[in-house]
Amino acid sequence: MVQDQIIARGISDRRVIDAMIKIPRHVFVEEAFAAQAYNDKALPIGEKQTISQPYIVALMTEKLALTGTEKVLEIGTGSGYQTALLASLADRVYSAERIRPLALRARKCLDSLKLFNVQLRINDVEGSPIGWEEESPFDAIIVTAGAPEVPYILIDQLSRGGRLVIPVGSDSSQQLITIVKEADGSLVQVPSVECRFVPLIGKHGWQA
Ligand code: SAH
Repeated sequence: MVQDQIIARGISDRRVIDAMIKIPRHVFVEEAFAAQAYNDKALPIGEKQTISQPYIVALMTEKLALTGTEKVLEIGTGSGYQTALLASLADRVYSAERIRPLALRARKCLDSLKLFNVQLRINDVEGSPIGWEEESPFDAIIVTAGAPEVPYILIDQLSRGGRLVIPVGSDSSQQLITIVKEADGSLVQVPSVECRFVPLIGKHGWQA
């Protein structure tokens, strides 16, 4: 998987490559799909949600440019696979999920891999703001569900020098966007590939 789908497509951050070699993807998919866990595609994880295609996970992770010291926020824990990569690449990870059974299963998977630097939270998204304000600012924020626009509340939770990676577009197709908050507070927005995520639900996303 890592050679054919990740390195061959241009992911070059050695730490990201090593983390993808180390973290077993089959642990995070439903048992019925374990044999397909290293294929080049998204897979169902229950509750009508999906674990993203490995390449997109690698690309988003590379765009966060993690060095090991960062405090990271993830919106959309899902299976916990992306969370596990972040946990092995950064100092501390905070991850929010709206569907309780997914969060509980992700916790078990992360514990089984002894990734104890992760805090999970189950959001009650109805009308509540996105993010994790009490723990902000974050050096990196990743949203793994498609948003209609960049939730500016997340920019407020980003530290200076921090990066936000988020898919933005319609509920069926998005573009991956990286926003860098410079040391002076100004924002630089870098668009990247087209992608297809399940929708971000709630005040800053789509209706459930
Ligand atoms: N990173 C995940 C991808 C999961 S799919 C993985 O590697 O498996 C996106 C997830 O975002 C879904 O589990 C969905 O329930 C969750 N989600 C959608 N809107 C959300 C919101 N407002 N807050 C938290 N989680 C949300």
